[in-house]
Amino acid sequence: MDTQYDDFRDMVRRLAADRIAPHAGDVDDKERFPEEGWAALREAEVAGLPYAGALGGGDGDLLSQVIAVEEVAAACGSTALVLLVNWAGTSTVVSHGSDELKAEIVPRVAAGDAGAAWCMTEPTVGSDLSAIATTARPDGTDWRLTGQKRFISNAPWADWYAVLARSGGTQDFGVFMVHRDDPGVSFGPHEKKMGMRGSPTADVNFDGVRLPASRVVADPVQGYRYINGELNTSRALIAAQALGVAQGAFDAAVAYTCERHQFGQPLSRFQMLRGMVADMAVKIESARALLYDAVGLIMDGNPRARGRISMAKLLCSDNAMSVTTDAVQLHGGYGYVRDYPVERMMRDAKITQIYEGTNQIQRLLVAKSVYEGR
Ligand SMILES: Cc1cc2nc3c(=O)[nH]c(=O)nc-3n(C[C@H](O)[C@H](O)[C@H](O)COP(=O)(O)OP(=O)(O)OC[C@H]3O[C@@H](n4cnc5c(N)ncnc54)[C@H](O)[C@@H]3O)c2cc1C
Repeated sequence: MDTQYDDFRDMVRRLAADRIAPHAGDVDDKERFPEEGWAALREAEVAGLPYAGALGGGDGDLLSQVIAVEEVAAACGSTALVLLVNWAGTSTVVSHGSDELKAEIVPRVAAGDAGAAWCMTEPTVGSDLSAIATTARPDGTDWRLTGQKRFISNAPWADWYAVLARSGGTQDFGVFMVHRDDPGVSFGPHEKKMGMRGSPTADVNFDGVRLPASRVVADPVQGYRYINGELNTSRALIAAQALGVAQGAFDAAVAYTCERHQFGQPLSRFQMLRGMVADMAVKIESARALLYDAVGLIMDGNPRARGRISMAKLLCSDNAMSVTTDAVQLHGGYGYVRDYPVERMMRDAKITQIYEGTNQIQRLLVAKSVYEGR
């Protein structure tokens, strides 16, 4: 990897250590928005990383986005989630939206002055998006949006919501850009979660929300294809988040085993624990290698990227769960209390096996790619 990426990683790592990590425990404890971390990411222009320079962004490629998310997540998973969901929420506009829609939404999000979210899940619709019940009906030249979206990250903090809604026949879905202040938009209560407690999560309700045609992302019946096209990138970012959380827990555990003494020697001298640390290191580095390989395929537009990114999301998140659990074990009783970060990291890791396509769904996709490749 060239030094340009190394320098960027160093910059984000320092930023995360100085301005994000010190607040991560409080953000989790109080279930509050990670204001300090978000301010740091805005000031360092990390918030605008994926967007074109012409739209006020940093022209950062997918590998630099992955590196940014990894480093932020190693300090605070919630801050990383706010960041990457902002990027996901604007991704279909960036890839397919009109110049007018891009100009309305992207520059403020790139500057970190507005937030974004993406809305697919519903109360009765999770893994099977083909059953989406939220509808968009033509109303003159406008559209009327009605339905309910569940577990929406960045809600109600975000200004813009990319909503996948049924716009016609059984296979017809559109992506509709809804503003928080549009009449008919309301939000459910803040979800009280196991982890990622600094990332806001709520239902978003649409009660006949009237939207001008300019708020539809391109073709109103191609939305499923547009969202599907963004999943390689969003899964890479979730995999990076999982990897970052694992790395943060690993670093904390290694430091602890050097400081803590039992039986007259540091924990790091016990062979049984050295074996655990070695297995954790292998889990992290093998997950990172697979993720970067998948990111390379995505950046090259290689069709094998689809199966590979599902493998990477699966491995990074399963390994994050295992590594964070072992990091708690290495801390003994201190791993179980909130004075040390590893119990937060273990709780944060769990969701990475669930969202952006559960790991059961990733296994289905991996198996599909295996059989299609024959
Ligand atoms: C903190 C948090 C943040 C989230 N953020 C967002 C967001 O920003 N935007 C958004 O749209 N959604 C978001 N989600 C929703 C998330 O993506 C879904 O929860 C996830 O896709 C799973 O859907 P579900 O919860 O309905 O589970 P279900 O689909 O009901 O699945 C339940 C179980 O059945 C398994 N299962 C389902 N189908 C199959 C199958 N065919 N074969 C084998 N097993 C199967 C699943 O793997 C899972 O174990 C978020 C969720 C959480 C908890």
